[in-house]
Amino acid sequence: MKFPAVFVSHGAPSLVIEPADPTHLFLQGLGRTLGKPRAVVCVSAHWETARPSVGAAEQPSTIHDFHGFPAPLYDLRYPAPGDPALATRVAAMLQGAALPAALDAHRGLDHGAWVPLSLMYPGADVPVIQLSVQSRLDAAHHAALGVALAPLRDEGVLLLGSGGATHDLRRVAWGASDDDVRADVRAFESWLVAGVENGSTDELIAWRERAPFPASNHPTPEHFLPLFVPLGAAAPGTRGRVLHRAFAFGALSLAAFAWD
Ligand code: ZN
Repeated sequence: MKFPAVFVSHGAPSLVIEPADPTHLFLQGLGRTLGKPRAVVCVSAHWETARPSVGAAEQPSTIHDFHGFPAPLYDLRYPAPGDPALATRVAAMLQGAALPAALDAHRGLDHGAWVPLSLMYPGADVPVIQLSVQSRLDAAHHAALGVALAPLRDEGVLLLGSGGATHDLRRVAWGASDDDVRADVRAFESWLVAGVENGSTDELIAWRERAPFPASNHPTPEHFLPLFVPLGAAAPGTRGRVLHRAFAFGALSLAAFAWD
């Protein structure tokens, strides 16, 4: 079965302990809707390297890479196994596409991976390997990663990008309601949703030139770049599906998309 390629916005880590949050509920339902893949290759905004790195640990640790959140979050563990053989293949597929990739035998799962995955697959029984982002490289590079890894979809592997549809933490207003969402955040999110639904692959990849307010929504690109891996894993022009739309803290879009 060909697995959809998916992008999710992971929000704040506290999402995982807020069972009434719409995005928490969405992620729980997403796992049920998709069904269990053979493995997950997760591209997380929270692992930035100069060149693509692939997590190859037998049993990845749970990394608590955040500060100032409620204490119970630091006790959470997501003990999904790794898949060193698949990690080795992922690196080889990237190298075969002239994308220099390296294995990292010690890397654990950061919260960009375990926050959504612990809601999607709470049994921690699906192997997970992480792939890093290259925040100094552009969207086209990340789409090329997706092109190279697209054949894994036919083997029942979920290619999952985890970042943020918009992500300007300087403007986060804790407690802001949906009505308080800034106009430029709504404009960027609307452009993104339309581009995904219309299959505007080239326009999306040219987001820095084509999107409204790119710099204010992504002052640094690492939370947006994971979107381009699942996008690249679908044929150019493929119309994506909007899985979820929500806003948090006045400045974050938590939109999620799938490409079949
Ligand atoms: Zn994040």
